[in-house]
Amino acid sequence: MIKFKNYYEILGVTPDSSNAEIKSAYRRLARKYHPDVNPDTAELFKDITEAYTTLINPEKKKQYNMLHGFFETPKTKTTSQKAEQEYKEKTTTPPNREQNIKSSFEKKKDYSEKVFSDKINDIFKEFTKKEQKKKKAEPANGTDITVDITIGIAEALKGTSRTVNVLHTQLCPKCKGRKFINGAKCSDCNGTGEKSEYRKITVKIPAKIKNGAKLRLKGEGNHGQNGGKNGDLYIKIKIEGNSKVKYDGLNVLYNVPITPFEAVLGGEIEVNTLEGNVKLKLPAHTNSGQKFRLSGMGVKQKNKSGDMIITVHIEIPQSLSDDEIKLYEKLKKASSHNIRENLLND
Ligand SMILES: [Zn+2]
Repeated sequence: MIKFKNYYEILGVTPDSSNAEIKSAYRRLARKYHPDVNPDTAELFKDITEAYTTLINPEKKKQYNMLHGFFETPKTKTTSQKAEQEYKEKTTTPPNREQNIKSSFEKKKDYSEKVFSDKINDIFKEFTKKEQKKKKAEPANGTDITVDITIGIAEALKGTSRTVNVLHTQLCPKCKGRKFINGAKCSDCNGTGEKSEYRKITVKIPAKIKNGAKLRLKGEGNHGQNGGKNGDLYIKIKIEGNSKVKYDGLNVLYNVPITPFEAVLGGEIEVNTLEGNVKLKLPAHTNSGQKFRLSGMGVKQKNKSGDMIITVHIEIPQSLSDDEIKLYEKLKKASSHNIRENLLND
């Protein structure tokens, strides 16, 4: 079934508008909605051209008016028009014969009219082809959306959840992506054919998640078009460091405390990290601030992985037993070396 189109409304003219007015309305609209100017208005321009070619042609216009109940307001005729009318009535010239008696000037005008209308028809055909191509186009999948979420170290260890407000793009529900309704910009999407809306999504973040990990929520991305699949939503996890842990790209930097006797005697210590428990061999005489690089023990991403860089600091335990204090006193008496001897001479 062919849908009724109000050609007058499309062109913004009335049944009483002159051909010159119709033409100028068409030109004005063509400048605005010609697909060369705006490829998204091909459908609308098709309607505009259809309206124009009908209303500019007296026969087609008459048929259209009769079919859809439009009327031209009868004009009050001037004396000369009356005379012309009387002459026409007397001669009863059929419309096609009437063409023959037109002046050469009018013939010229008719010719340019025809060229213009042929041009329009060519354009029209091309757009129809373009439109058909567009319609045959594969369904377009929606694009993915990536959202960054920052969590703390404790959350990364225990797992947590976050509610994110994600901006989704979908086809405008009012114009169904056509951008125009009856020749006017769709008021819902302001002629973009798309509408964006925020949707709240609660994301569960599993325990022991790594910095830079990406969680995929299938189908929660932007909406697909023409039956295309929805995109996915990716949640990129960023773990915010604390005083002990810092992230530097794929490298993870740990500040690890060691006891005075571990520093002096060396030995193997166990370090609890987000990347798992790590055994670190301390050499004897380790100093505060000394760095140890554990190659490949940083954040793993695809086939790359960073390093873990451990900086040790000698830390005195907050509470010491009497036995420990006695041992430190003994240590003090036994110590012969002046550690500050070369403070200014070095
Ligand atoms: Zn719309």
